[in-house]
Amino acid sequence: MRNVVIIGSGCAGLTAAIYAARANLRPLVLEGHEPGGQLSLTTHVENFPGFPEGIMGPELIENMKKQAARFGAEFKAGAVTQVDLSKRPFKLCADGQTIEAKTLIVAAGASARLLGLKGEKELIGHGVSTCATCDGYFFRGKPIAVVGGGDSAMEEATFLSRYARRVFLIHRRNEFRASKIMIDRAKANEKVEFVTPYVVEEIDSASGLVSGVKLRNTATDAERRIELDGVFVAIGHDPNSAIFKAKLDMDQNGYLVAKHGSLSNIPGVFIAGDVQDHRYRQAVTAAGSGCMAAIDAEKFLEEHKDA
Ligand code: NAP
Repeated sequence: MRNVVIIGSGCAGLTAAIYAARANLRPLVLEGHEPGGQLSLTTHVENFPGFPEGIMGPELIENMKKQAARFGAEFKAGAVTQVDLSKRPFKLCADGQTIEAKTLIVAAGASARLLGLKGEKELIGHGVSTCATCDGYFFRGKPIAVVGGGDSAMEEATFLSRYARRVFLIHRRNEFRASKIMIDRAKANEKVEFVTPYVVEEIDSASGLVSGVKLRNTATDAERRIELDGVFVAIGHDPNSAIFKAKLDMDQNGYLVAKHGSLSNIPGVFIAGDVQDHRYRQAVTAAGSGCMAAIDAEKFLEEHKDA
């Protein structure tokens, strides 16, 4: 029987682990499919407070893990496949093993959708990115592409024009899902060139770095190649909330709903990080919500000592 089980080992989960461990609750962190979460997929992190020279994402995550372990947090590899939240203690199934928990912190994160192209994953951190605010700075003076036609793509194209020499906004249709104001803003930006209706068929690389894209016009099948240094994939995120369907409240896009900080609809279950955040999605906000969830779990345990 565990006092606190934390699902997810990204920034939110590890911050929750540091706080819960320092409260002597010996939390167990179930690391999930992507140990370390999205930070482990990025390179330099320059906007996490306290690192004036920046820090590599994987190093930041490793430091958080060590910090949590120092105070007694334990870690288990593998993903949770089933949860029973119908009564306390909650029951979780991870790698065929059943774990009982007095409280649960869900920090399962969200995964950026990728295009599914050959070599795309390997080029993350080498020209392919899913986070403009994280990586835009590295493309100063360079030509880049943003793929997508939603608000995220418009926002990223506009944001990235601060750094990049040219931003090709590549979208598979001539119509956009994005709101008019966001489209107008991107269109008014002289650095942003709309390339529609095109899909990316290949991401070219040279010496392990992105060097261009091969596109196909979805109306005419005509091919086009653009030489560039970065591809920002902005085709949406999916919260990792599938196992909580019909158990925890979620919005229409599957994001869990946290109220008054980290509270879910089930007493004793707390929510943190990107699994409940489609707006900010920053390392520092995930860390803050992980801290809130751990404090809420600690208070809950204190109030239900005899239950
Ligand atoms: P989204 O609205 O779901 O848009 C995803 C875009 O990616 C669509 O244009 C879609 O094309 C395209 N797409 C999806 N799969 C693709 C694929 N395999 N290949 C090529 N293109 C693909 O996602 P989002 O832009 O991340 O926005 C998510 C939510 O956050 C929205 O509700 C949005 O309004 C909100 N948001 C708001 C703001 C803001 O207001 N400041 C900023 C960012 C996000 P199709 O249109 O052809 O399907």
